[in-house]
Amino acid sequence: MTTASAPITQDVLTLPRTLPEGPTNIVGLTRDALRAALIAVGTPEKQAKMRVNQIWQWVYFWGARDFDAMTNLAKDYRALLAQHFTIALPEIVSKQVSMDGTRKYLVRIAGGHEVETVYIPEEDRGTLCISSQVGCTLTCSFCHTGTQKLVRNLTAGEIVGQILLARDDLGEWPNKGEGMGERPRLLSNIVLMGMGEPLYNFDNVRDAMLIAMDGEGISLSRRRITLSTSGVVPEIARCAQEIGCMLAVSFHATTDEVRDKLVPINKRWNIATLLEALRAYPKASNSERITFEYVMLKGVNDSPEDARRLVSLIKGIPAKINLIPFNEWPGSPYQRSDWAQIEKFADIIYKAGYASPIRTPRGEDIMAACGQLKSATERARKSRADIAAEAGLAK
Ligand code: SAH
Ligand code: SF4
Repeated sequence: MTTASAPITQDVLTLPRTLPEGPTNIVGLTRDALRAALIAVGTPEKQAKMRVNQIWQWVYFWGARDFDAMTNLAKDYRALLAQHFTIALPEIVSKQVSMDGTRKYLVRIAGGHEVETVYIPEEDRGTLCISSQVGCTLTCSFCHTGTQKLVRNLTAGEIVGQILLARDDLGEWPNKGEGMGERPRLLSNIVLMGMGEPLYNFDNVRDAMLIAMDGEGISLSRRRITLSTSGVVPEIARCAQEIGCMLAVSFHATTDEVRDKLVPINKRWNIATLLEALRAYPKASNSERITFEYVMLKGVNDSPEDARRLVSLIKGIPAKINLIPFNEWPGSPYQRSDWAQIEKFADIIYKAGYASPIRTPRGEDIMAACGQLKSATERARKSRADIAAEAGLAK
């Protein structure tokens, strides 16, 4: 007998109440969590702090993946660690290298989900663009990631894991005997501008960034970490207090009418509310200025009036305005503004006293540029018409 029309139900009582027993991954544990975990497996409390320091340096400074490599720990203790813990990273499924040297990694995380991580080499720095979610629950109409339905938050380990993977691929772990800061860093900056809205995965992003900033390990200064948000206003103050990194905001429009269409979270927290939170950020986080990201969409938000309105809106906020020429993706409902229009826009901003760099698209040939990321296995793409209709662009 078929029961095709019966509702599908799941008896929640049959779901497991606890996680399956198994080794705990060290990657992604905060110092406090690692300390507690070490004590729980029998490390004497008096020694715990020192053990945390030792393991931390092995994992995050030397890039060790095996407890056997931890030669300053007693053999028995290494065996105990191996019994209860792992040092596990997500897996690189594929790597594409652009003609401009940009590297795009497709990274598989637990459950078979995939995210993308992008390494962008520049003359004076190397920036890793990392993902915080699989897909994104928000639906900005110009963003490829926003068309991906599948979503889950990345764990702190999966976020830090992207940094460790990139350092593996770049061959950037120090050699034996080498101290900190002896070589210029290949991976010197982090931007949380990959897939996902980092402020909707706050705790994991915070823990991961605190690990990346820790001076005994990866040791990146908070000024070299930039978190980009679409404008999750209630979390902005927390970001200042609990992470203290640089902030970028996806501004993209100068009226609520247009921003509602481009960045729909604006319907919840509008431009005025967002600006109020941004005004408080530099002081609260002790960071110099906020980056306003502004994607240039032909005929939508790129007029000289927009440029002038932008300048007057952000008056009083220490700011840099990053103009991003729109990066097209299959089915995208917008076009990139003409170059002359972008330059005119930049000029108005510059004359008002703000730095207004035009972000050169990087890795376009491998779909690694801003807003083009979308896991290759997630093919359920909305049609051009659906996207246009949602953005209120349909005729
Ligand atoms: N969710 C966060 C961070 C990821 S997006 C945020 O929205 O800020 C990183 C930046 O790329 C954002 O400024 C985003 O608006 C921009 N972006 C998205 N799609 C784009 C596209 N197709 N072309 C250019 N920039 C895009
Ligand atoms: Fe999400 Fe950012 Fe893309 Fe908007 S721009 S859909 S917030 S990833």
